[in-house]
Amino acid sequence: MPLRFQAGTGSWQDLIQAVFKQEQELLAHRWYPLAEIQRRHGGSALFDVMFNYTHFHVYKDLVASSAADMKVLGQHGFERNNFALSTNVMVDPISDQIRLSLQSNGETFTTRQLQRIAGYYVQTLNAIASDATAAYQAHNVLSEQEQHLLVRSWNATEQPYARDKGIHQLFEEQAERTPDAPAIHFANTQLSYREANQQANVLARHLQGLGVGPGMLVGHCMERSAEMLVALLGILKTGAAYVPIDPDYPQERVAYMLEDSQVQVIVSQPWLVDSLPAHQAQVVCLEELDLAMTVGNPELDFYPQQPAYIIYTSGSTGKPKGTILPHQSVVNFFASIAQRPGMSADDRILAVTSLSFDIAVLELLLPLTLGAQVFVVSRAVATNGAELVQQLEQVRPTLMQATPATWRMLLASGWSGDESAELKMLCGGEVLPQEIVQPLLERGASLWNMYGPTETTIWSTLEQIEAGQPILIGQPIANTQTYVLNPQFVPTPVGVVGELYIAGDGLAWGYRHRADLTAERFLPDPFSTVPGARMYRTGDLAHWNSAGKLECLGRTDRQVKLRGHRIELGEIETVLAQHPAVQSCAVIVYQVAAGNQQLVGYVVPEPGTAPALAELRAYLRAALPEYMVPNTCVLLEALPLTPNGKVDRNNLPAPWRLRRPRPALCRPHAIALKRLS
Ligand code: AMP
Repeated sequence: MPLRFQAGTGSWQDLIQAVFKQEQELLAHRWYPLAEIQRRHGGSALFDVMFNYTHFHVYKDLVASSAADMKVLGQHGFERNNFALSTNVMVDPISDQIRLSLQSNGETFTTRQLQRIAGYYVQTLNAIASDATAAYQAHNVLSEQEQHLLVRSWNATEQPYARDKGIHQLFEEQAERTPDAPAIHFANTQLSYREANQQANVLARHLQGLGVGPGMLVGHCMERSAEMLVALLGILKTGAAYVPIDPDYPQERVAYMLEDSQVQVIVSQPWLVDSLPAHQAQVVCLEELDLAMTVGNPELDFYPQQPAYIIYTSGSTGKPKGTILPHQSVVNFFASIAQRPGMSADDRILAVTSLSFDIAVLELLLPLTLGAQVFVVSRAVATNGAELVQQLEQVRPTLMQATPATWRMLLASGWSGDESAELKMLCGGEVLPQEIVQPLLERGASLWNMYGPTETTIWSTLEQIEAGQPILIGQPIANTQTYVLNPQFVPTPVGVVGELYIAGDGLAWGYRHRADLTAERFLPDPFSTVPGARMYRTGDLAHWNSAGKLECLGRTDRQVKLRGHRIELGEIETVLAQHPAVQSCAVIVYQVAAGNQQLVGYVVPEPGTAPALAELRAYLRAALPEYMVPNTCVLLEALPLTPNGKVDRNNLPAPWRLRRPRPALCRPHAIALKRLS
């Protein structure tokens, strides 16, 4: 009942009388069942969990002297009450034993979950009794059995694969098995396995003649075509690793990648050569070679840890970082994916993903180790809904992999699906939105959520998605371990959020020229018995469910995914801050509507300046790829700060150009910032 005082009316006596009267009225309601309050609160809980430690002050003397003094005295079932969970801890006056009773509403937790929670409590008491000075996060609340389940059983992914082979060797073996089978299609070009292998051999021999060999890096700057794929195979056949350079990237970024990778040779196409920034490398074009020449597979000293490719991803400190991936990781990945979701010689794969995104390897190279057919799609088609629908109808692929943005684009373009219901749809790179699940399931044979960072080779976990089920990222692929850990590297129990770490055969070498960052992200694997084993810190939040499947729950940092592109907002801010008229800035992702997220920059200009949006965008475009250039920039007098002086990104004003109505309850505090006109 609200108190009804009106300031400034009546005397003090009136006020006291009013208080007294209201107190009387309130007293009539002094017993009010909590469940009733909750019900009247609109059904939403005021709280979920109640922890009741009865009269704890009298138990000061009741400290177990060691963990051995503590015993679990069996379990007598769980009572029901109205809360998700209520816990009572009391001392039995007769036996002097601590009794823990758990009650639940019978809906939120299963009996097994309640048993586990009771176990965590006992385990915590044991841990505290054995070392009362350690930080609470350092204590492991898991029983030995549960730890074994999380760390071992759910990670028992051992599978044999060709550990000593390279990607190119798997392809060569396939070319030997099915020389006349169609391998690569692009527009009117079709190459058989024999032709593709032969052309790749010609390039490889040429590159070897230029001194290219194992352990070296070769730039690959080509438009999407059959030759693009032949060139990849040719580079791999020399034992060198390829460095994909997107012809659409701005010169400054390409220049940085060339300098950082120190490539000595770049494989390109005649019409792209002039657009490359100044470099020291030698350029080779397939057009200059006699591809009809018959030459055998090149001989080379191969070792499975040899790098196969380097992928540059956005770096939070302002420069992209190159992740080095070895053949062995890719070969393991291939064996795992060929099994589940499954790929074989009968498959027709529509390849839509840019080579700068590591997942393209699944679409381009994996099929060629299995005898399947790759249909390479041009960038113009891959980014145009209507044209991509047409391609799908023409090619009738059995497998296509894309980011949610591309699947969404297809749905929006009226794609009616695969009539023969043969299409396996692989979706990954960012959160799979629930709203596209059902429409996709209606249009293909199966839908798979693929999860994984570049640093652990393409995808590390996967899950087949069924209608109406939660969107999980599933279980680790072959020879891969996933751990959900707290900041002290202690596994978090089922259902409890922690950071996701990935270990096993998919791990990258690390970042090129970034030993510091490599050491920060690739840590010793505390659960492995293999000397030197490492685990990669993903920066993703996750939890296990009780069936041993993972759910991804966002990021611990400022890395975002926008239309499948991995972006460190800090990299954009670093470039923007270098503009002479920018005093300080912040960049955020703004959700305009479902499936429509936009980058927005906030700029505090230097006094007396007011840089135009076009100018800022042009400045950014010189250094960053188009997908990293904010759509709009807002000029502010100052950036909002949190009480401890950090930029308060949650309190930046909505950009007027993109503003959408917000629900009343979510309206931000009145913004005291004045927009500069
Ligand atoms: P990238 O290195 O470009 O493959 O980006 C890896 C990051 O993308 C992961 O660390 C996740 O944050 C995000 N990501 C990739 N796939 C998924 C997925 N299926 N669901 C949720 N997040 C994903």
